Amino acid sequence: MSSPKPGDLGIPETGGHYAARVPLAFFDLDNTLIRRQSVLAPVAEQFCATYGLDADAVPHIADAFRERTGRAVFARLRSEYGLADQVTGLWAWYVDAIAAAIACPAPVLDGLQQLRDRGWTVAVVTNGATDIQTAKLRSTGIDQVIDAVIISEDIGVRKPDPAIFRAAAALCGQPLGGGWMTGDNPDTDISGAHDVGLRTIWIAAGRTWTHHPPRLSTPSTTRSPPSPTCSCCRSRPP
Ligand SMILES: [Mg+2]
Repeated sequence: MSSPKPGDLGIPETGGHYAARVPLAFFDLDNTLIRRQSVLAPVAEQFCATYGLDADAVPHIADAFRERTGRAVFARLRSEYGLADQVTGLWAWYVDAIAAAIACPAPVLDGLQQLRDRGWTVAVVTNGATDIQTAKLRSTGIDQVIDAVIISEDIGVRKPDPAIFRAAAALCGQPLGGGWMTGDNPDTDISGAHDVGLRTIWIAAGRTWTHHPPRLSTPSTTRSPPSPTCSCCRSRPP
């Protein structure tokens, strides 16, 4: 087997030598490693049953859960439906319900572990609240097969801010150069990572890439179906 040439593995040359450290593999969490959207309707049904709401409220509540769910969403739902429980309690219920409902496919967990076995440093870089993102990482077992996690609420910046990718690299003790980012969001995951020099894998989920220059012409690699396996990450750069 011939030795890899500079760039074959995405590892930049530095002064005529390969970068000394192993490359980074960053992953988004929601709808990349786990299918968050698929559990929103069932959790909305549970919410209605738990808090005594009519079943016809399920679609509206599932829609409310869909984007950037946080305590503010439950403040609004509490007001809309006249719920007696405090926002803190409603949010705590939601964190537990989502964590219980969500799963990470076994091939994804296995793929993450295989990446580490092959010398990659694997981290989850996710936007969201610390308590719910941590709960999902633990309940799915993802926390057992990664080296690090960066959650936006912890550091006060969200993807696509370059600071979150740099913070993740610093936490891993690795340079960003030669690293990869896999995610489903064209703006926060793909363009954000591209802007700091990471190569990217877009979880297309049946969508067509419609983003154009000057932000980004195309992700480095596109993968579908939405649930990635590590075969994505083992692929060589095009
Ligand atoms: Mg996502």
